[in-house]
Amino acid sequence: MANPQLASQLKIRLDEDQLTNCMRCGFCLPACPTFRETGVEAESPRGRIALMKAVADGLMEPDEAFEEQMNHCLGCRACEPACPADVKYGRLLEQARDAIEDHTRRHRLWVKGVRRLVFKELFPKQSRMRLAGKALHAYRVFGLQRLARRTGALKLLPRQLADMERILPAGSGRGVVERIGERHPAKGEKIATVGLFRGCLMDTLFTETNVHTVELLTEAGFEVVIPKTQNCCGALHAHSGEAEGARDLARRNIRAFKEAGVDFIVSNAGGCGAILVEYDHLLHEDSDDREDAAWFAERVKDVSELIVRYGRVPSFGPPESESGEERAASGSERTGAADAPLRITYQDSCHLRNVMRSSEAPRTLMRRVEGVEFVEMFEADRCCGSAGIYNLTQPEMANRILEHKMEHANATQAHYLLTSNPGCLLQMKLGVERHAAGSGMRVLHIVDFLHERMKRDYQSTV
Ligand code: SF4
Ligand code: SF4
Repeated sequence: MANPQLASQLKIRLDEDQLTNCMRCGFCLPACPTFRETGVEAESPRGRIALMKAVADGLMEPDEAFEEQMNHCLGCRACEPACPADVKYGRLLEQARDAIEDHTRRHRLWVKGVRRLVFKELFPKQSRMRLAGKALHAYRVFGLQRLARRTGALKLLPRQLADMERILPAGSGRGVVERIGERHPAKGEKIATVGLFRGCLMDTLFTETNVHTVELLTEAGFEVVIPKTQNCCGALHAHSGEAEGARDLARRNIRAFKEAGVDFIVSNAGGCGAILVEYDHLLHEDSDDREDAAWFAERVKDVSELIVRYGRVPSFGPPESESGEERAASGSERTGAADAPLRITYQDSCHLRNVMRSSEAPRTLMRRVEGVEFVEMFEADRCCGSAGIYNLTQPEMANRILEHKMEHANATQAHYLLTSNPGCLLQMKLGVERHAAGSGMRVLHIVDFLHERMKRDYQSTV
């Protein structure tokens, strides 16, 4: 069915320069997970750009198939580093999704429900995120989860949601500031003051990782401040066509970190870091905020990058609690000889790699850990299928991608699979549960792994 409003909005919003910059060379095709899975041109970056251009030029109606292609894209942006013409594909995708979101009524009912809950009711409101954390904690700790499983109540959920329920962490109603306070001095001579971007998902589901990030940073010589008035980064909003919501959150975060007077803004979640580093673009049309947004964007660093480039890298060694004998006694299929080194591998966060352009720093840190063998996973740079809420809204493609990812993860025979983003972490846990059960492979955030192995030169105060 024709949708003239959507057609005219796409003509207005899509960046003509970016559309015409694409010279149809196809260098991006091998980098694109959806093209690799399907072999279909329309499922590739070049194909999607051609569709956008055809709509912008009035040669095609933005029909259901067009919308589907925009929604099938993971938004992983692996096509951008591969592009010799520097086409900003991510921006085009956001512009297309923004228009679709404003002018379509075709979402499935439960997808609409999830979107409303995530974008409007939950993520922008810290108090509700805390409440959700408390509810999750109660669900896991007070026997409700066991009850839900025993009674079969989980069968009422769509399969993907039911599967996610199995791998959710315990959650917490107390975030990093409630746990350890707002300001933390550097150990030894201070190098700089950094503001920790705590993240809403990180601080609700992985509070411990945020606490560990503070300890890692102070050990590396940074004073850490955690501004209390910071908010959700807006990444899920921006990638899902909720641009105005994302801009509003960006303004609030810029204010919070400016007032804290920090030298750097540090993120431990690739998905958050990638939007934070693009706040200058997000607010480029807003003359009141443009300067502050540029100030903010140029200070954003991933935690591994900050430590490797500017910090005193702590020493890392095996923790007391993990000897080869214990691994051998654990019943894991991947034990090996008692004196064999621990094998670790790493799944890149797409946004950390393709937008923040940081892939070497985490590997540098992993290679610095004594007694550990780092094994590079084949296609570690390829999306795991998590992609924000993609694994919930496009479960079929997400599951295909995950299955292939786990073939490569299993081939490493690693004891630990590390990541730098909460979405990837949950997706890889799901992958291990489905495709590597019994292998003993543990999935951890890189910060938690390093923290466990950090040799403290100074007495920790947090
Ligand atoms: S963002 Fe990822 S899935 Fe989308 S076109 Fe680019 S490479 Fe393909
Ligand atoms: S690599 Fe860049 S220029 Fe070439 S087809 Fe892909 S997006 Fe277009």
